[in-house]
Amino acid sequence: MDSSKRSSVIIVGAGVSGISAAKHLADNGIEDIVILEASDRIGGRIRKECFGSVSVELGAGWIAGVGGDLPNPVWELANQTGLRTCFSDYSNARFNIYDRGGKIYPSGIASDSYKKAVDSAIQRLNSDADNIAELPELPKTPIELAIDFILHDFEMAEVEPISTYVDFGEREFLVADERGYEYLLHKMAETFLLTCDGEILDNRLKLNTVVREIQHSRNGVTVKTEDGSTYNANHLILSVSIGVLQSRLISFHPPLPRWKKEAIDKCDVMVYTKIFLKFPYKFWPSGEEKEFFIYAHERRGYYTFWQHMENAYPGSNILVVTLTNEESKRVEAQSDQETLREAMEVLRDMFGGNIPNATDILVPRWWNNRFQRGSYSNYPIISNNLLVRDIKAPIGNIFFTGEHTSERFSGYVHGGYLAGIDTSKSLLEEMKSDNQNEQQPFVLELRGSPNDLHRYDLARQMFMGSNVGMPEAIL
Ligand SMILES: Cc1cc2nc3c(=O)[nH]c(=O)nc-3n(C[C@H](O)[C@H](O)[C@H](O)COP(=O)(O)OP(=O)(O)OC[C@H]3O[C@@H](n4cnc5c(N)ncnc54)[C@H](O)[C@@H]3O)c2cc1C
Repeated sequence: MDSSKRSSVIIVGAGVSGISAAKHLADNGIEDIVILEASDRIGGRIRKECFGSVSVELGAGWIAGVGGDLPNPVWELANQTGLRTCFSDYSNARFNIYDRGGKIYPSGIASDSYKKAVDSAIQRLNSDADNIAELPELPKTPIELAIDFILHDFEMAEVEPISTYVDFGEREFLVADERGYEYLLHKMAETFLLTCDGEILDNRLKLNTVVREIQHSRNGVTVKTEDGSTYNANHLILSVSIGVLQSRLISFHPPLPRWKKEAIDKCDVMVYTKIFLKFPYKFWPSGEEKEFFIYAHERRGYYTFWQHMENAYPGSNILVVTLTNEESKRVEAQSDQETLREAMEVLRDMFGGNIPNATDILVPRWWNNRFQRGSYSNYPIISNNLLVRDIKAPIGNIFFTGEHTSERFSGYVHGGYLAGIDTSKSLLEEMKSDNQNEQQPFVLELRGSPNDLHRYDLARQMFMGSNVGMPEAIL
């Protein structure tokens, strides 16, 4: 298809940031938009699936940051739409640690070694990574490794102020709703896209449309898709994940400047995998303070973090185990049967040999999904905001959005939601200044080599909102 019609804005990606960006544009009168989405649905990394007769969340599961001074906008949306949620208290996990013999820590005599392991894991988080002499010893025992894993991968808030908890509060709520977390996105989309009985019929949303090439010049953007179609627009908002940007699934003509590519490559991508297991009956201790439990193994992160789903869905008989990074990649590469075998072995270590086999398993593959390439961005703790600003900075008519462009809330659903609005605001400013320029043409001249493009881009941002035209060199 060759869409000769030119839109005002093309939005690539229909996850939370793409949908919130599109809604903000529509709310401000920009309705000739086209949303190009590679998969067959909206939602991106917010995705439910029916498993064992309930809805489980393969991607985002929690609304993090509730109960503070400022309202978390995603929590507000959840309340407006009546989304069912349950309070989660992760902190109980560290009091339910099982070793390979099924012994539970911390208990009796073991509590001293437990306390030592917690203290040294916290000390390691707080210590200056450059000063090796001051670093405490690396964790060695299974209990130390498990605690280190939990503190680093799940509970960093305890030692590192995380903006989400500082701004919105420290409580977290698990979405436990048959309509899924993605219901929030459908409600948002309904406000500006034509829908019928909850189905989006609006032909401004193009599903199964994989963007492969973006040509950009001062005159606008041309997008080429995998099915050979072409779309034209004045501006483009690119909301694909940082992992997709790193994978070079999309090529740019002219290419992105070197500083931009370097910034994109510097951001770490976290892989986080929730594996769901269905059982014929419950054999684990239940109750709120038992919701999370830990398995201590000599390999760090080996089926460490467990959760029962009895609080979310009583009687569902489902357990969830979370793996991260290398363990996630390893499990993604093997068969689900092999993963089931490993998980059962671990459960038998904890609960004994008489437990029943799981009747079903669900293993999401976020790393191998070429439209995700990971779970979320993970900026190094010591990185300042320059890196995220470079990743977010527009290039000509291309505006970047997504959770990875949020300075305060990267990695979270609310980060993606707020980033979408923020990017659309910047674009609206740009459009306003473009209109003014048409009335009062004036071109500022900046001279330099192509390597100076970054400076030109900064200059461009400084001039945004003024009636000064952009230097040719940036385009
Ligand atoms: C396992 C997991 C657990 C998580 N847990 C939580 C949690 O509990 N709480 C929380 O707040 N956050 C959590 N997150 C993070 C949260 O899901 C993300 O931060 C957020 O959903 C990202 O939204 P986005 O719009 O930035 O990106 P995405 O949702 O990735 O949207 C981008 C869209 O672009 C599309 N796309 C990609 N390439 C192309 C292409 N070439 N052409 C067209 N379209 C393309 C994709 O299909 C996708 O729909 C989790 C994520 C994962 C994966």
